[in-house]
Amino acid sequence: MSKIKLDVYNDPEIVRKLSNFIKKEAAKLEKPIRIMHICGTHENSIVRFGLRDLLPKNITVIAGPGCPVCVTSSRDIDAIIELTLKEDIKLLTFGDMLKVPGSRLSFFRAKSMGADIEMIYSIFDGIEIAKKSSKPCIFFACGFETTAAPTAAALRDLDIPNNFYIYSVHKYTPNGVYALLKSGKISMDALILPGHASTISGLKTYERFAEGFGLPSVAAGFEAADILLAIALIVKQINNREAKVENAYNRVIEYEGNKKAQKAIDEVFYLTSSIWRGLGEIENSGYELKDEYKRFDAKEEFNITYTDDYIEHQKGCKCNEIILGNLTPKDCPLFGKRCTPYDPIGPCMVSDEGTCKNWYDGGLF
Ligand code: SF4
Ligand code: SF4
Repeated sequence: MSKIKLDVYNDPEIVRKLSNFIKKEAAKLEKPIRIMHICGTHENSIVRFGLRDLLPKNITVIAGPGCPVCVTSSRDIDAIIELTLKEDIKLLTFGDMLKVPGSRLSFFRAKSMGADIEMIYSIFDGIEIAKKSSKPCIFFACGFETTAAPTAAALRDLDIPNNFYIYSVHKYTPNGVYALLKSGKISMDALILPGHASTISGLKTYERFAEGFGLPSVAAGFEAADILLAIALIVKQINNREAKVENAYNRVIEYEGNKKAQKAIDEVFYLTSSIWRGLGEIENSGYELKDEYKRFDAKEEFNITYTDDYIEHQKGCKCNEIILGNLTPKDCPLFGKRCTPYDPIGPCMVSDEGTCKNWYDGGLF
């Protein structure tokens, strides 16, 4: 049943009609436009369906900071690796994170040096592992609001063993992107709003993008027609000199978002400044545990300290400019040569949400 419904969103006839509509509207544009998406899975769909080839020359779709693994700072990776190598603890992490290079080591390399690191699929797996372990178990909690919500709900509602901790590198995308826009580091004419993350935060939080920066902002799903529909609505808004929030994914996203998930996040976390890899410290963009949940905080329990000598990007890696949408992977001389998913130099080549990895897998050399 749901398969048949999804097929509609990839129907070649519908895709062709949308593409033609975009071309007709684009002919009325006064200048070329750049539309940014901030979701790694959107980039994955755009590459997989070859959607850039269906757009006219005056519309460029660029990938912004939409990969939580890519924006996790080396400072945090280094700190947790150092602790795992030094202390008798078990580190629990999502598979995406394993190969991401820190300043000197990745989790993978640390594992080969004897660190006890285990891959998990969710915090729930991690809690079960901790129940059977005699060691302190630390979950490296990476991800945007989509992942912060289950972390919060688990800590609030489940029976958690005393040896379970989290190291939060969770980030809140809308505040991060908003601050980057304000700082002038990032520029675009319109925004495609993320598909999963918006189910949690809702679309309300993006009104400030439309109002404050005059950016048409449209939420999109992950099928070909979903993304093209969002682009069509954006071009229409620009031609009508409008800038508003619209929902091209209303089969999933609600304007107010998921109130239960928001409540869980608000009860467990507060927002504070956070370091985004290559982009620096961004105010109100990172989730840290509130006092009532401090007993789960690995940063406090293990008295983690930081040094300033961390390296966000290895020599030649252009991930920071790619995350800002200023460059594409093809602008990096290492792309597909010294840097591949098998031996990644930068974080954008690791996760399926990373732009370089998507372009490599899609054969876009
Ligand atoms: S969590 Fe989902 S919505 Fe957010 S960037 Fe990743 S794929 Fe996109
Ligand atoms: S191709 Fe590799 S080195 Fe180049 S920007 Fe991407 S991740 Fe960095």
